[in-house]
Amino acid sequence: MDLNLKINQKGNVEIGGADTISLAEEYGTPLYVIDEKRIRDNYNRVNNAFTKYYKNFKIFYAEKANTNLAVMRILEEEGSSIDAVSPGEVYTALETGFTPDRILFTGNNITNEELKYVYEQEVILNIDSISALKRLAKITSPNGLKLSFRVNPNVGAGHHDHCITGGPMSKFGIMEEEAADVYNLAKDLGFNPIGMHSHIGSGILNPEPFKLATESMMNIAGDVAANANIDFEFLDFGGGLGIPYTPEENLLDIDNFAKEIVGIYKSKLNEFGIGKPAMYIEPGRYIVGDAAYLLLRVNSVKQSYRKFIGVDAGFNTLLRPAMYDSYHHIVVANKANATPTEKVDIAGNVCESGDLFARDRILPKIEEGDLIAILNAGAYAFSMSSQYNSRPRTAEVLVNNGESELVRERETYKDLFNNQIIPERLKK
Ligand SMILES: *Cc1c(COP(=O)(O)O)cnc(C)c1O
Repeated sequence: MDLNLKINQKGNVEIGGADTISLAEEYGTPLYVIDEKRIRDNYNRVNNAFTKYYKNFKIFYAEKANTNLAVMRILEEEGSSIDAVSPGEVYTALETGFTPDRILFTGNNITNEELKYVYEQEVILNIDSISALKRLAKITSPNGLKLSFRVNPNVGAGHHDHCITGGPMSKFGIMEEEAADVYNLAKDLGFNPIGMHSHIGSGILNPEPFKLATESMMNIAGDVAANANIDFEFLDFGGGLGIPYTPEENLLDIDNFAKEIVGIYKSKLNEFGIGKPAMYIEPGRYIVGDAAYLLLRVNSVKQSYRKFIGVDAGFNTLLRPAMYDSYHHIVVANKANATPTEKVDIAGNVCESGDLFARDRILPKIEEGDLIAILNAGAYAFSMSSQYNSRPRTAEVLVNNGESELVRERETYKDLFNNQIIPERLKK
């Protein structure tokens, strides 16, 4: 079991040295609990693995996985750079202390206004289409502006179709066949294209597709270097590094992964004689995924056609099971050592049948008032949450060395009205 589960002497689940039962009592539920040390450790594990094989290496943390400001601050302190996929994420990164040279913007289907905004912030632009390139030339003065392009290496991978972002079905990137032309066009328009990027998907535990994509992108880079005469400053291989969600899955062997990817990188640099550009990757899930739990209180136990364990949050709080059919490991936090005896469904409180966190899960006998911990709730968890069913978004707590701090207040009913306006004529 590689799920990093810690159980204390009371038989309660712990995170970051803090007892989840006490956290739930102090802050209420539902509650996201983020483990600071785990984030730092995850970051350093990847960074050390890659820099061991290639010094000129940088991590661009994919902010969309978790945009909590405290999380951003932790990664800024560690020296991370940022992969931002929207102007709002650029704004968040700047506000949390990342300088523009540490922010790479990879937009898709962005408007002229958005392009102009990110251009004015002086972040590194990673362009996804010829359309965006031409529009950027019109609304700015290219003046030798450094640019990167996202290419589609014609390889995709991921834990769900929605998470595959390379290959023939993907909306992302520039096709291999037109890559050299696009770099030439960028130069003709007055830009200075110096980077190339790809991101093939998310939740990859098997290095093979990532290796294929690395090889494929390096071939495109070689072609572009030769046919558009580009001197690359960086090559960015995107994110996608997976984490185990089930007890059967194994941790990614990050040292071996780094060794293999860097091996391909170096040999292709040699083959094409394209110097020693910086190597970037953009992990999101790997950095924060296993660094948070979602704590939920059991409020009802119903024996219907099936046995339903009702909890105090639904897919508005954690969307992944409903959206991707994702497995999240679930532990009864106050009975962590008890023997699993019952097959149950863990059901949320949203009015939809698809609102289940788990089906047919074998767990210890659960009673009302028990505390449920949903593991691996650090990535694409709070950041995908909503107020659907008029449920205020939940609170987040940061834990470190057993100490806890509130890092996001629980929303109130009043917050549900934020920015809404009732026209005067409809007022009571
Ligand atoms: C989402 C995304 C990532 C991060 O993906 P993970 O699977 O969380 O590592 C990296 N780069 C880009 C461009 C992305 O859209």
